[in-house]
Amino acid sequence: MPVTELAAPPATAPDLAALIERQRAHFAAHRPLPYAARIDLLQRLLKMMEAGRVSLRAAIQADFHRADVEVDLTEYAVSLMEIRHALRHLRGWMKPRRVGTPLGMLGTRGEIRCEPRGVTLIIAPWNYPVQLAILPLISALAAGNTAVIKPSELTPNSARWLRENLGAAFRPEEVAVVEGGIEVSTELLRQPWGHIFFTGSPQVGKVVMRAAAEHLTPVTLELGGKSPTIVDATADIPRAAEVVAWGKCVNAGQICIAPDYVLVDRRVHDEFVTEIGRALDRFHGTTPEAKRASPDLPRIVNHRHTDRLLGLLDDARTHGATAATGGFAEASERFIAPTVLTGVSAEARVAREEIFGPLLPVFPFDELDEAIRFVQARENPLCLYLFSRNPSNIEEVLARTSSGGTVVNDVLLHYMNANLPFGGAGWSGLGRGHGEAGFRTFSNERSVLYRQWDGPVRRWLHPPYGEKVKRLVEVMSRWL
Ligand code: NAD
Repeated sequence: MPVTELAAPPATAPDLAALIERQRAHFAAHRPLPYAARIDLLQRLLKMMEAGRVSLRAAIQADFHRADVEVDLTEYAVSLMEIRHALRHLRGWMKPRRVGTPLGMLGTRGEIRCEPRGVTLIIAPWNYPVQLAILPLISALAAGNTAVIKPSELTPNSARWLRENLGAAFRPEEVAVVEGGIEVSTELLRQPWGHIFFTGSPQVGKVVMRAAAEHLTPVTLELGGKSPTIVDATADIPRAAEVVAWGKCVNAGQICIAPDYVLVDRRVHDEFVTEIGRALDRFHGTTPEAKRASPDLPRIVNHRHTDRLLGLLDDARTHGATAATGGFAEASERFIAPTVLTGVSAEARVAREEIFGPLLPVFPFDELDEAIRFVQARENPLCLYLFSRNPSNIEEVLARTSSGGTVVNDVLLHYMNANLPFGGAGWSGLGRGHGEAGFRTFSNERSVLYRQWDGPVRRWLHPPYGEKVKRLVEVMSRWL
């Protein structure tokens, strides 16, 4: 059955069960998928991405009005870099890893073997609709699994691009795309899987974890939340402001690792706010008309999210905030100008909910300790960004806060280094993706102990227990 038949929403339960059964039979017939076959899958994915570069831009443009160069960077190049990284390192990742042997285990040898988890499910969000499906897919295939991908229904052009291109590059028993909304997702989550890799909101993350519990399926949750940026008085303020402005404008702030809000030393607060305004003018023009016409400012994904963001802006103003820059919108076009908010009350929704859009509240602090306690009082974020030239301040923030990832004196870029595991901490996620961490996430790390030679001591462990075993236990407890 071609996957396109299954993909027509709503996919019915028997369709899904048949697809999973087909992948399971394929997995069982080929396990463990040899190195060469995995390389072939990754190379097919690489070719598919390369061949689809232009149509990918069009699909994303239709969903978001996002600049081609941004699509090339954040959807295309990031995927290609990750595939090439896997191609380069797969042989090493697949090798069983020897572990040390403690003295008391003499005569044995231990190793860890990564074995595939089987038929896996990848549920993707809308904000990077292709890349956030492709990156986990790379890990799933590298680890020798099959995969079913459920893209977001909010970006239908990108979802179709995935279905058509992956459908042409892979057989449904290798990789399949199932389109649909919550009902389809719910039906998928009812099925037994070898692993579920979910990227999305913490609220839906809980739904996924509950469903996974039914089959005790391992899950990875890549979630969101409020990622703080701390700017101390020693930072290079014009540079920090420019970098933060860029980080907030990429995909109009609709990015899980966007700086959500800024905590800035009161002594440099006004300079920082002014410099952000200047940076935004340099990026997108000085007038509201210029900003609206900027080809580099993406739109909000849909009217529901536009209304949500305008609601956050209204609520912030009601609580006394002012827009130091921006503050205007054209709802019919789903356009919201990048907006820096000052004088924001801690009661305002913009200070409490994940923003996921181009609004940036800036809060002043008097002592670094105050900023640290502000972060500590909230859920662990996906990222924490820190701008400082003082090594002891940097160390203090790192030591007293926790987050999935941190960038010092820049933003977003840790995502691009496949050697750094990517994921959240607590409320912002569970488990790790990218590079070798992603490969291991999609593997069962099996511990294997080989008995190599036997001595008389081994038998002392058998009943009837005598003096020798008691002495052995004493030695082990005291000396080993
Ligand atoms: P979402 O949680 O609403 O949806 C994600 C996926 O889950 C979609 O495919 C959707 O169809 C499905 N879904 C939605 N409701 C469901 C339900 N009740 N039951 C089963 N499936 C359901 O998230 P979103 O709005 O698409 O994306 C935005 C969120 O994702 C933000 O919180 C953002 O921070 C987070 N995010 C995290 C990362 C990361 O890598 N950590 C990356 C991108 C986005």
